[in-house]
Amino acid sequence: MAHHQVLVVGGGAAGITAAAQLKRARPSLDVAILEPSAEHYYQPGWTLVGAGVFSLEETRRREADLIPSGVTWMRDAVAAFDPDHNRLTSSSGHTLSYDVLIVATGLKLCWSKVEGLSEALGRGGVCSNYSKDFTTYTWEAIQSFKGGQAIFTCAPMPIKCPGAPQKIAYLADDVFKKKRLAAKVIYATATPGIFGIPAYAAPLREVVKRKGIDARYNHVLTEVRAASKEAVFQVTDAESSREEVIPYDLLHVTPPMAAPDVVAGSALANGAGFVEVDQYSLQHVRYPNVFSLGDVAGMPNSKTAAAVRGQAPVLTSNLLAFLDGHGLSAAYDGYSCCPLITGYGKAIMAEFNYKAEPTPSFPLDPTKERWSMWFVKRKILPSLYWNRMLAGSQHERRFVPGVR
Ligand SMILES: Cc1cc2nc3c(=O)[nH]c(=O)nc-3n(C[C@H](O)[C@H](O)[C@H](O)COP(=O)(O)OP(=O)(O)OC[C@H]3O[C@@H](n4cnc5c(N)ncnc54)[C@H](O)[C@@H]3O)c2cc1C
Repeated sequence: MAHHQVLVVGGGAAGITAAAQLKRARPSLDVAILEPSAEHYYQPGWTLVGAGVFSLEETRRREADLIPSGVTWMRDAVAAFDPDHNRLTSSSGHTLSYDVLIVATGLKLCWSKVEGLSEALGRGGVCSNYSKDFTTYTWEAIQSFKGGQAIFTCAPMPIKCPGAPQKIAYLADDVFKKKRLAAKVIYATATPGIFGIPAYAAPLREVVKRKGIDARYNHVLTEVRAASKEAVFQVTDAESSREEVIPYDLLHVTPPMAAPDVVAGSALANGAGFVEVDQYSLQHVRYPNVFSLGDVAGMPNSKTAAAVRGQAPVLTSNLLAFLDGHGLSAAYDGYSCCPLITGYGKAIMAEFNYKAEPTPSFPLDPTKERWSMWFVKRKILPSLYWNRMLAGSQHERRFVPGVR
């Protein structure tokens, strides 16, 4: 049975960043990553793939090139956790043991929860930026749209990047207006409002109004009828719950999401299936030698790659303190960031914390649409991700003392 001091499950944005920061902080540490995929995608770039700005290729790197120096990569997946015995079993039947476990498997996309969706995707105008297999089709669908009704859906929370479902609606709307198409754009979201952070919801409501987008709240997509080109929603408000059928010519879907079954069905999960960690220390509440970060971690923050930048330094510091037998003093403040693209050349850089307070990185009013923030999203953030964040750069450290 192979043993590692630190075993990281998942080599996505969170797993690679955590492993890289740990190795930088303590080069002698024995760190291994369990990750089945040979390719790593910069998922935040998929909104711009769907909008024809990036190619899918630009968002892809070889996983082997991202594994931090000195870290062991096992190309395998976890099949079962056994935290009571500090070990896990992999899909290929190996048992691995650890001193400390980091769970970073991300979310699973639940396409099959929407009837007819899996069969409809990728043709007939049904697209999604949430999958590498369909994001290029989003751009095809936007380009071949000749007018009519374009619906953009948003699934119930939690989902990764809660702003992404509306960003593509704004970008598509720009394309339709430029072509002077007779288009009605509908943003149908399961949420009760346009965005969960009041400071950013206010300018977004203005964007929706200015563009003439029909925003419909509390709309949960339940079925796609590809043959008749109809999207079926369950609409629930304080008084009633009813079904609403909306015809579409283009349908961009954000699928429901959940923790992977292997996590949700394990002793590590909370009631919702996510890893039950303390929201400040990122340490498991029942298994002190287990930590988690990224989308699968059960904190109430907005699930983004940017959030990982806030979490990784905290996890690194607390995990090393745990190994050394010291108290855990670093605390995550819930930092997340969603570059809310409101059209080609415009974005609101929405940064915020657990308290829903704006936490801007720039000395500018963060609630304003700006070309500069579009530039940051398009040019700066991808390079920051590949060259600094995944490399475990110490400049990404964000300690926020006294947030409790
Ligand atoms: C369309 C879209 C737009 C987005 N826009 C933004 C944005 O603008 N800004 C932003 O900050 N974030 C954005 N995000 C969100 C961001 O990509 C995620 O929050 C981030 O990737 C989370 O990192 P993670 O490591 O937790 O999960 P992931 O990066 O998804 O990685 C999880 C890894 O775990 C692996 N894994 C899964 N199951 C197992 C298993 N059983 N065993 C071992 N390994 C396993 C997977 O193969 C994967 O490599 C966007 C995402 C999408 C899809």
